[in-house]
Amino acid sequence: MAPNKIDHIGIAVIDLELAKAFYAGSLGLSVEHEETLGDMKIAFIPVGEVNLELIQCTSDNGVIAKFIAKKGEGIHHIAYAVEDVSSALEALRAQGVKLVDEAPRKGAHGTEVAFVHPKSAFGVLTELVSGGRKEQGA
Ligand code: ZN
Repeated sequence: MAPNKIDHIGIAVIDLELAKAFYAGSLGLSVEHEETLGDMKIAFIPVGEVNLELIQCTSDNGVIAKFIAKKGEGIHHIAYAVEDVSSALEALRAQGVKLVDEAPRKGAHGTEVAFVHPKSAFGVLTELVSGGRKEQGA
């Protein structure tokens, strides 16, 4: 049930267009997918097997807006690909790991996701993700 790779790195940004101009423009990467999820505008930029997930919050009191207000723009979370989010959560809960999500929820790109609390992950908000993406449109 261990993660088999880092799926993406979530980066909180104030202005998605400016962030895309740097990552897709200056760094020479390409945006593969964009979507709006609740109050978040998200752009996925693949770098080999790992994606950058640029996230802009469109409301003032969303989690990303609060994060930026407190810590500024930057790395928000690291997401690990797992086979099944529910059983990964179950295994972590059984070990007393502090969770943000008690059950999987719908993530970007048709995925299932759940977050592990940074207090249990040495200061890193940790996301578990499964499904979606490559299966999409298949
Ligand atoms: Zn994420």
